[in-house]
Amino acid sequence: SEEILRINGLSTRFFTEQGQVNAVEDLDLRIERGDVFGIVGESGSGKSVTARSIVDLIESPGQITDGEVWFNDPELAETVRDDQPEAVDGDFVDLRQLPDETRRSLRGTTFSMIFQDPESSFNPSLTVGEQIAEAVEVQQRASANPRSTRARTQSEEYSLGNFVLSTMLPSQKYVTEASRKRAIELLEMVGIPDPVERADEYPHEYSGGMLQRAMIAQALAGEPDVLVADEPTTALDVTIQAQVLDLLSDLQEETGMTILLITHNLGVIARMCDRVGVMYAGEIVERGTLADVFDDYVHPYTEGLLGSIPDLEDAGGRLDPIPGNVPSLLDHEMEDRCYFADRCPKAMEECLDHPPEYDAEGSDQHEVRCVLAEMAYDESRAVPDDWFATDD
Ligand code: SF4
Ligand code: MG
Repeated sequence: SEEILRINGLSTRFFTEQGQVNAVEDLDLRIERGDVFGIVGESGSGKSVTARSIVDLIESPGQITDGEVWFNDPELAETVRDDQPEAVDGDFVDLRQLPDETRRSLRGTTFSMIFQDPESSFNPSLTVGEQIAEAVEVQQRASANPRSTRARTQSEEYSLGNFVLSTMLPSQKYVTEASRKRAIELLEMVGIPDPVERADEYPHEYSGGMLQRAMIAQALAGEPDVLVADEPTTALDVTIQAQVLDLLSDLQEETGMTILLITHNLGVIARMCDRVGVMYAGEIVERGTLADVFDDYVHPYTEGLLGSIPDLEDAGGRLDPIPGNVPSLLDHEMEDRCYFADRCPKAMEECLDHPPEYDAEGSDQHEVRCVLAEMAYDESRAVPDDWFATDD
């Protein structure tokens, strides 16, 4: 397989009245095409902001302040190469260097996002079918003219708070019979029964689980390369959660898309992901394959998260087991040390000296940001094996 995303030094800040919040700090990540990559951590750890930063969905007062997001897309690279050779590296394009309107044209078509709360993705005054058909048409216009500025769909206007404006516009009926047909196909693909009839219903006529499926259909309308799913099943009851996760897995296999899955739930990660990044205080502190992170973890935070889940099959379990809280990410309160130190049962003096760097652990894909990993590679330090005990 090949890399689809190569992220270097990505930082996102929020400029608030209390000061500058360093929500994502110097993030490096590699994501392989066709993988389900999970980002897991407690709430407030920066997972959602990370996902939104990668796909350029940060809204004011947030701002990506630094970093590169290299995206593997030979066609895009071809269109950019002449004008902006510095933004192209082989088949990769640094999305951060592209003009705003080019980046915006990738939304929905190259990158799509689904959320915990499907209501936020639909305008209540239009039928579900109309809104999916509209997403289909936006995609078709964008692929006919890849560099054009695309208009927001009405459901996007709605989710951006321009609801009044969009409902005052004449309701846009299916512009073409083809996009209506495609909308129905998409509803069928995500398992909506009687899709022909259900296409003409309004969002409030759908159950929570059905609307979640419809949101997935809408996100897939543009045939995205990367689907970002931010806590996609958190609001659903356990049985429906499992069905929606299975649906996402099936769709991933059918379409070959890459999924970036954000969740606080390790059960969801275990069920879905090929690779995982464990996030704490705006940083990925451990990353690797599912086996690296679940069986050969090194970081005490990962260990704490895993220890907190009595039963991984219990997809409803919340992570809230490690005493203490994620520290403030306000700039003037950040310190040059491991951010986990005041909650870490293994903290030692070195942890307060400097922020730990990444170290490879075992396979070169498994990396850990912790003094323990640094020490393990220092032959002069005898680190007892049981420091890395995985019990059982
Ligand atoms: Fe704990 Fe130190 Fe590792 Fe931080 S660097 S997680 S304090 S052992
Ligand atoms: Mg979140």
